[in-house]
Amino acid sequence: MIGIFGGTFDPVHFGHLRPLLEVQQALGLDEVRLIPSFIPPHRETPGASAEQRLAMLELAAAETPGFVIDQRELQRGGPSYTVDTLQSLRGELGEQKSICLIMGLDAFAGLDSWHQWQRLTELAHIVVMQRPGGLLAKAGAVAELIKQRQVLDVAELQQQAAGRVWFQSVTQLEISATAIREFVVHGQDVRFLMPDSVRHYMEAHGLYKC
Ligand code: ATP
Repeated sequence: MIGIFGGTFDPVHFGHLRPLLEVQQALGLDEVRLIPSFIPPHRETPGASAEQRLAMLELAAAETPGFVIDQRELQRGGPSYTVDTLQSLRGELGEQKSICLIMGLDAFAGLDSWHQWQRLTELAHIVVMQRPGGLLAKAGAVAELIKQRQVLDVAELQQQAAGRVWFQSVTQLEISATAIREFVVHGQDVRFLMPDSVRHYMEAHGLYKC
């Protein structure tokens, strides 16, 4: 069973890494693929290019066995639709392999706005990690998805290759890339929010200073 986790990683931080490690261990994932999304050049934040986001992610992944980077969204360019990414992963991994699409609760709460979102559960399971401040609506399309697809036994994720929703409780870390970028702009220390290797890279390249 493999996990995939997409994001802008601008920059990667412990709010991504610690919960992901807990998901990896709880579900016994053979591999967690970190997939940085392409950002159109005109939307890129000052300082962090795609190459730099990738370099920071590589430094972070190098510290954890089983964490690997998948560059397909950067290579594809254009809008990074998760449904396209899953389709291409299915092609590579075959129909039998369980794929868990991992995301934070905030991302899951807005799932019904994603491109072709109803196809996501045809291609993968969805694994939701709690995130401070994340809230789920009690009604609506996402609530309905939970009602129809949530499972309470991990074994069910192994029995089928896709189609289930799993909630994973994880250590709650109220860290966001936005807050980190703001700390840097204000000249504040960002230690203990991300691996030192990532912080050193940010400092060496003067990232997010304006
Ligand atoms: P930004 O502040 O720039 O929006 P971010 O810190 O939210 O960035 P992203 O790269 O946008 O990070 O998020 C990628 C994925 O990581 C999303 O599924 C998001 O829900 C999840 N995530 C990010 N931070 C946390 C956290 N502290 N706890 C749990 N999940 C998180």
